[in-house]
Amino acid sequence: MYVVMIGPPGAGKGTQCKRLSAALAIPHLSTGDMLREAISQKGPTQYGSAQYGGDQIGGGHLAPDDLVTQLVRDRLDDHDCRFGVLLDGFPRTVRQAELLELQLRTLGKKVYRVLQLAVPEGTLVNRLLRRAEVENRPDDTFKTIRHRLQVFREQTAPVIGYYSQQGLVRQVNGDQDQDKVFLDVLAELRPEPARSTESARSTKRKS
Ligand code: AMP
Repeated sequence: MYVVMIGPPGAGKGTQCKRLSAALAIPHLSTGDMLREAISQKGPTQYGSAQYGGDQIGGGHLAPDDLVTQLVRDRLDDHDCRFGVLLDGFPRTVRQAELLELQLRTLGKKVYRVLQLAVPEGTLVNRLLRRAEVENRPDDTFKTIRHRLQVFREQTAPVIGYYSQQGLVRQVNGDQDQDKVFLDVLAELRPEPARSTESARSTKRKS
């Protein structure tokens, strides 16, 4: 089951993915974590003419599509990802979504569902400021929070449109108790009930 968890920063994607990963026994792939780890081990990465490192991630600037896609592609080839993954923070641009589709196709797979965690912007800002105190993340300052929300609206929200056209998006209210969000997330991952031939026929008879 290849699931994309999409939502603005602070929506709770990481928290829900961790719980889902344990419940479904499939890996949780967070591109934010992967980038932070890559930078802490190797320092800034040169990609074409762009340099991507601590300053860029701290400023809330998106990493180049090719760099992030490469990280995900390498991971998807791993044995533990063969039954599915939870993608957290990826794809963040329509280009990344297209590249992911190509990559999954070569593996004979496709995205099963896209869960959109919806949370009002005021709540997000408060949550992120609180996280800044607890986790000391350099990208959780008021200025960068505003910037990251803007990047989400401009570059990532179109990804929701991309997947909506394929009928894959299910919206979950992320502005409620974590446990309730988790139950809603699980409900949205249930298979669609297959319409039996008989019920299809009776619908036809009624109309
Ligand atoms: P996150 O931990 O998901 O909030 O990501 C932290 C930062 O990493 C983001 O603000 C971006 O700068 C960068 N990042 C994470 N995922 C991606 C992605 N899919 N594409 C580009 N940049 C990303």
